[in-house]
Amino acid sequence: MKKIVILGAGFAGLHIFYKIRHLIGKTIDVTVIDARSHALLKPALPEIAFEGAPLSHSLVELEHTLESRGATFIQNKVDFIEPDLNRVILQGGEQIEYDYLFVTLGAVKDYDAIKGYKEYGYSVCDDTQAQKLWEKVKTFDGGRIVTGAAKSYWGSRVKAPELSAPCEGPIGEVMFMLDYYLEKEKGLKRIEEYQIDVFTPSEVFFEDVGDKPHEVIGEFMTKQDMTLHNNKIVREIGKDFIAFDDGTQMPCDLAIVIPPYAAPDVILDSGIGDEKGFIPTDTTMRHLDYDNIFAAGDITALAQPKLGHIAIIQGAIAAASLMKELGEDVTIPPHELEVFCIMNMGGNEATLIASNSLYGGKRDVAMHSPVSKMMKWGFDNYLYFNKGHMPPDWALEMTDKLTKLL
Ligand SMILES: Cc1cc2nc3c(=O)[nH]c(=O)nc-3n(C[C@H](O)[C@H](O)[C@H](O)COP(=O)(O)OP(=O)(O)OC[C@H]3O[C@@H](n4cnc5c(N)ncnc54)[C@H](O)[C@@H]3O)c2cc1C
Repeated sequence: MKKIVILGAGFAGLHIFYKIRHLIGKTIDVTVIDARSHALLKPALPEIAFEGAPLSHSLVELEHTLESRGATFIQNKVDFIEPDLNRVILQGGEQIEYDYLFVTLGAVKDYDAIKGYKEYGYSVCDDTQAQKLWEKVKTFDGGRIVTGAAKSYWGSRVKAPELSAPCEGPIGEVMFMLDYYLEKEKGLKRIEEYQIDVFTPSEVFFEDVGDKPHEVIGEFMTKQDMTLHNNKIVREIGKDFIAFDDGTQMPCDLAIVIPPYAAPDVILDSGIGDEKGFIPTDTTMRHLDYDNIFAAGDITALAQPKLGHIAIIQGAIAAASLMKELGEDVTIPPHELEVFCIMNMGGNEATLIASNSLYGGKRDVAMHSPVSKMMKWGFDNYLYFNKGHMPPDWALEMTDKLTKLL
């Protein structure tokens, strides 16, 4: 029996688990380790922050979910990986040995990298931040809102698109959902009572997609009187301002930012990442230096942008790579990435974005329709009620065909 250890039970870790679980007790045993008791379904966080949705609907309980399906779950923080000894060290010193290791620890949101963030900044990137933001939004009675992503920095060991921001989809949700809430729910007047400014560290807002999504998002921003500021690298948030590296400032009563993404300390400390701590893999998701280590999701250097959809693609590849190694009759899917997300815009409004132009492809779709909202609702609920299990491949293929027709 081969001992498989999965570090991190987010999108990628859970997807790998569900892909290999049929082998549990036959050829493998599986241990999953996560610091949290519940996986956090991040795509539902904007609904907590701008609609007051309950946090419970974004959580998947891990111990029963995994153990009732044959795995061992350990809730603890991973402190160190010793790849030459095939073992990981947990907080408190417990040592866990493995034959094969999957590293799916995601990326750290480095709030501390922005001066003043702790005192004055807001975000939507985790459960604590989203709930804190809802408390602020509920009592917000007008003023200047500034939102955007900080610049992140990546290593250079693998060839991946050099994006300034890990993913600006959540910023799209922030600006449109907040606008909807303030205008439609609170009855505030745009420009007269509140104003939304948006910044991006890049030359182009939503740099990971092509012309069509730019056009659709741009039209909505113009219609909703939002002002875009390009090439702005956030440096500091103050009580009534936000400041950028180029020396400019904007007046600001509510700053909502995506902080820089960084690698978890455990990867930096263990020396298995690239210069920035993201894990270098080949396109079968195998570590470039360690044959028995696979990685998937936000932690990998190849995952650009950092998206759940990409974590799922890479998770399926990593799982197939292991199964093939164990002698199963499987084909490793190609590492063909695409941006696929449904941007919630408040009420019944949503835009589905599907684009592979970043990787040289021709697909570049932006579908604004109540159907997009229904698809998001269906997908989020499926994931929640099926304990983080993705919809079956045939349903994903049907969605893919539908977007190809658009
Ligand atoms: C607000 C928001 C909205 C988003 N919306 C979308 C969307 O609509 N569509 C989309 O495709 N993507 C979306 N994303 C991106 C998506 O959520 C991430 O890309 C995805 O979660 C990455 O999956 P992962 O498994 O790599 O990492 P994660 O989901 O972050 O999971 C990592 C896991 O590792 C655990 N962990 C980390 N360090 C340790 C440690 N040292 N010891 C033990 N455990 C540890 C964590 O507790 C966590 O459970 C959104 C992100 C945000 C922030």
